Amino acid sequence: MSEVVVVAVDGPAGSGKSSVSKAVARRLGYAYYDTGAAYRALAWAAVNAGIDLQSEDAVVAVQDSAEYVASHDPDHQVFHVDGVDVTEAIRGHEVSGSVSHIARHPRVRQGLVDHFRSVISACSYPGIVMEGRDITTVVAPDAQVRVLLTADEEVRIARRQAELAGVTAEPVAESLKARDRSDQSVVDFMNAAPGVALLDSGPLTFGQTVDAMLSLIDEALGGTDE
Ligand code: C5P
Repeated sequence: MSEVVVVAVDGPAGSGKSSVSKAVARRLGYAYYDTGAAYRALAWAAVNAGIDLQSEDAVVAVQDSAEYVASHDPDHQVFHVDGVDVTEAIRGHEVSGSVSHIARHPRVRQGLVDHFRSVISACSYPGIVMEGRDITTVVAPDAQVRVLLTADEEVRIARRQAELAGVTAEPVAESLKARDRSDQSVVDFMNAAPGVALLDSGPLTFGQTVDAMLSLIDEALGGTDE
């Protein structure tokens, strides 16, 4: 691992990991990297190419030919696939419904894991907060700070519904549960692996969760915050 401080954050949908990780990166002057956005961008490219998402070979072919660019600035998150700005599109219903299908393929995951490791190696910030599902366990198990951010399912569903104001409650709950079910069959992000700190955001406000994560980082880095 490079000298860059790596803060690895995992958690299920709606645990608050993106907003909390972004706020933490901002406070520390670190880069922020959303690995879920990379999976989403690949799902967008696969859907756009009209391929069979169940075919690992077809998804790998799209992955190998598509050029993916992501910003690392927590205040400016923009994603491009082959020069197309997909920042909004990757949050849409179609991508959310298809991303778990492409994330199941082992060769697809390996390609992305390699990519995420190269992002860490090339990081020009003093640190990087990288969040996803397998960052603490697979992508960066030797990260200086590893945190699993959780919250009860009802809390996560309520948060997702608040984010998607105007969308009926039932489909939001169903889609979050289905995605978690499928994702959990690939990687365990509900139980903290040995050495990974568990942070339950359920009973905490957003600000308290950010402070709790900053304290975990401070502790892990020996009280220097750097
Ligand atoms: O984090 P987000 O919910 O945007 O992630 C979208 C999807 O990408 C997840 O539902 C999962 O299928 C996949 N993913 C993954 N491993 C990661 C990050 C995301 O499998 N490290």
